[in-house]
Amino acid sequence: MADKFQVVVIGGGPGGYVCAIRLAQLGLKTACIESRGSLGGTCLNIGCIPSKSLLNLSEEFHKVQNLSNKGIEIGEVKLNLSKMMKSKDKAVTILTKGVEFLLKKNKVTYFKGLGSFKSQNEISIKDDKNKETIIQSEKTIIATGSIPVSLPGIDFDEKKIVSSTGALKLEKVPKKMVVVGGGYIGLEMGSVWSRLGAEVHVVEFLDHITPGMDKEISNEFMKILKKQGIKFHMQHKVEKIKKNNSAVIVSTKDKDKNLTDFECDVVLISVGRKPNTIGLNLDKIGVQLDEKNRVKTNKNFQTNINNIYAIGDVITGPMLAHKAEDEGIAVAEIIAGQSGHVNYDTIPGVVYTTPEVASIGKTEEQLKEKNIQYKIGKFSFMANSRAKAIDDAEGFVKILADEKTDKVLGAHLIGPHAGELIAEIGIAMEFGASSEDIARTCHAHPTFSEAVKEAALSVDKRAIHS
Ligand code: FAD
Ligand code: NAD
Repeated sequence: MADKFQVVVIGGGPGGYVCAIRLAQLGLKTACIESRGSLGGTCLNIGCIPSKSLLNLSEEFHKVQNLSNKGIEIGEVKLNLSKMMKSKDKAVTILTKGVEFLLKKNKVTYFKGLGSFKSQNEISIKDDKNKETIIQSEKTIIATGSIPVSLPGIDFDEKKIVSSTGALKLEKVPKKMVVVGGGYIGLEMGSVWSRLGAEVHVVEFLDHITPGMDKEISNEFMKILKKQGIKFHMQHKVEKIKKNNSAVIVSTKDKDKNLTDFECDVVLISVGRKPNTIGLNLDKIGVQLDEKNRVKTNKNFQTNINNIYAIGDVITGPMLAHKAEDEGIAVAEIIAGQSGHVNYDTIPGVVYTTPEVASIGKTEEQLKEKNIQYKIGKFSFMANSRAKAIDDAEGFVKILADEKTDKVLGAHLIGPHAGELIAEIGIAMEFGASSEDIARTCHAHPTFSEAVKEAALSVDKRAIHS
């Protein structure tokens, strides 16, 4: 007799494993299937965690080289890349094993293998030796995530033509690296390799980086990255990429139809990711996809098939780990008869470069487009005492509030610890706070968070330190 579960989650990424734990907490007999051989999905294995580890290590390498300017004399600083990679791999292993422990602790049954639908209520799991196990499922959640997109006709070899996966494990620092796409991955991984010594060229299709981000922040971001030595080639389209024995040639055409060839050791293609539904057999059971091949769901994460749900990167919305996690919790609660939900207006986005860039809510461009009247409050880290004290004062905080009600509609930060500071605004927005509420909240001195308070004061033109 096949094992029977109340809920089966296919995919053990931040969407899937978090969902499985919440289902189990709610008393449902739950299984989680993962094909990768380790839990945590893209995020823990080949995404958020290894990239943040390398961002931190490369930043330390960069900082330590400049310490003598601050009166700390040390000897010659050398890079040991393989040791650095081991340190990153250790962080990944600890965290993925930690997730396995959490599934066990919560009594979620973990199946290692590739899950696919045999029918609406039967899931096949094939392990790496092709041995098949079939389980029965009352309800199934698709949490199979996303995979990198390449350019037409170009395959990743993950050595010279790499996706983020290859860029996280290069064996030596490239002399020259071309990054196609100035989005999250391109700028984070470009920063890593630039700090480690590569000459990095970003080739971007649009006239600005990080599309969707508040334009003022995006412009400041590019200015700062240029100062750090990253070179940008905007409004350039990649026409072809060719490999020879020694190099890779990236051929581009700009908006005026000028052709340029970039010769490099490694090209990183980071032009987005696509939903992963490979091998699930969705057409067999009739699960509908949308125009972008994402699994189509209603507001309760339910597909057109009643007992099948989907969450995370494989459905619509930003491809972010915390969005996937929150959807995992929401769908578990909905299935358990509670009223789980996700507030898509307050999902923060953070780019973990130096400085960090963080956004939440509406951008100025979106407010203009929707004809919403707004006020702006801005405060530069140059006038923040903590930032000045530690000589880390690039960037600013920008708060957008409703012209009439003063309700906070969005906030955009570039500067030290922006990814942490944004949480304060998230809470404020969840509680429907006004900029005055933030401005009247006592913030410790000297902290970076005082820049948030001052930006809130500045909405009412009464910042103290500028
Ligand atoms: P995934 O994490 O992709 O997990 C899906 C899992 O399902 C995978 O492990 C896959 O092996 C498994 N699977 C697929 N098909 C099957 C099947 N048929 N049977 C069994 N298992 C299957 N987001 C952030 O919020 N912050 C960051 O800093 C950040 N950094 C990133 C850096 C990089 C380089 C990349 C690539 C992504 C980054 N992301 C970041 C995005 C984040 O990783 C994803 O949004 C997140 O992992 C999505 O979670 P998910 O659970 O939907 O899917
Ligand atoms: P992205 O959507 O962030 O950026 C892709 C960039 O490539 C855009 O600027 C786009 O204009 C450009 N582009 C598209 N086609 C192009 C072409 N043919 N030539 C030149 N440029 C082109 O995608 P990504 O950087 O690949 O990242 C994928 C997703 O992973 C992100 O959207 C994000 O959701 C997630 N991610 C998040 C983080 C984080 O939260 N810190 C980090 C990494 C990845």
